[in-house]
Amino acid sequence: MTSKRVCVYCASSDASDEKFLLAGRQLGEGLARLNITVVYGGAQCGVMGAVADGALSAQGKVIGWIPTFMKTEILHPGLTEVHEVESMHIRKHGMMTNSDALIALPGGPGTIEELMEAITWRRLKLIDVPIFIINLDGYYDPLLELFENMRKARFIIEDTDMTDLQINTKLPLRRNRPGTKAAEWCHWPEETSENMDSLYHIQQYIQQSIRRNPSDIDFILQAPDQQDEGVWKYEHLRQFCLELNDLTVLLQKECLPETCSQMTATEQWIFLCAAHKNPKECPAIDYTRHTLDGAASLLNSNKYFPSRISIKETSIAKLGSVCRRIYRIFSHAYYHHRTLYDEFEDRTHLCRRFTVFALRYGLIPKDNLIVPINGVNQDVTTIMQQQTSPVKSVPVQSLKDNDSPPSPVIPSTAAIESDA
Ligand SMILES: [Zn+2]
Ligand SMILES: [Zn+2]
Repeated sequence: MTSKRVCVYCASSDASDEKFLLAGRQLGEGLARLNITVVYGGAQCGVMGAVADGALSAQGKVIGWIPTFMKTEILHPGLTEVHEVESMHIRKHGMMTNSDALIALPGGPGTIEELMEAITWRRLKLIDVPIFIINLDGYYDPLLELFENMRKARFIIEDTDMTDLQINTKLPLRRNRPGTKAAEWCHWPEETSENMDSLYHIQQYIQQSIRRNPSDIDFILQAPDQQDEGVWKYEHLRQFCLELNDLTVLLQKECLPETCSQMTATEQWIFLCAAHKNPKECPAIDYTRHTLDGAASLLNSNKYFPSRISIKETSIAKLGSVCRRIYRIFSHAYYHHRTLYDEFEDRTHLCRRFTVFALRYGLIPKDNLIVPINGVNQDVTTIMQQQTSPVKSVPVQSLKDNDSPPSPVIPSTAAIESDA
């Protein structure tokens, strides 16, 4: 079996700080010890030279890609294999497409260019290999902040676009458990939260827990030690919105404006869509989309949520109203599209997770959680079972006290709720 190849992006300047040279050498050595071939830009100087020296000192293989015009000046003399090419473009392309993973150490404009090209190609699905950014001593923090701005400005539309970037302060080699085989090295190892280090680390941690077992709600909602509670709630809510988009995609096949012309759950409530200047009755599917769009723009807003590291008390108060609005998507699906809801819920356990989440953090009063979840809001289930006769048609009235509506499971009067 041929060994895995890992491409290392780094600088050739000899003037850089000693710690970067040391990191390069350690990385080269570590890769060689895992029987991984180093692919890089072929130079003998700077961090590039250190990576090659490290790998060669541990009897590793090193492949250099170098353009002819640089060759006489900087080519490392001890490489296992040299690809002499015409241009910088061919060099970058060769390195990127002949590697099983890409690692960026701290570096200058050339390194950033290579990294950005790799990220772009990956987003375009031209390559499909993991990309690691070694954020040594916070070197890449400003870049991560720029990614965050890109996301806020919606140049990066899906949250998932960037989350599989693996950003570490430590060299990724140390993240492998003892005995990790080279063949498994590129896989994303499960990591405890404190070992993940990026602006996305809480989101990554949550997504990792969900992937592990979507039905293990307690595990997914169990905050790591010393986790800021506001951030924890915020990141979970973002994740709920993401996953509710999947439910929406399913709903749009059968939740049509003709059949569901209003947003209702049980018959007592007609929910007004708060996405409009004057809240109005949108068909259920429109309400669903407008509400998720509204939630996304609030949660991404620079004004209320400028940081994903700490969250202002006043902004935390907004989370409750987002929760109440998006919960209506579950309740509409449950009461009007039951087969679809059951299929989705069996697979994702999303409504169960949301219900436990909303109760645990007091985001929605228990009586308003009207989708019965076994063992969670059991007494609501009981009430629902007792409610045998259909609700009588009564005049609709609007509700003034937006934040504490009476329990909709006790038939009283039909009401329009608007909490714009
Ligand atoms: Zn519907
Ligand atoms: Zn609307």
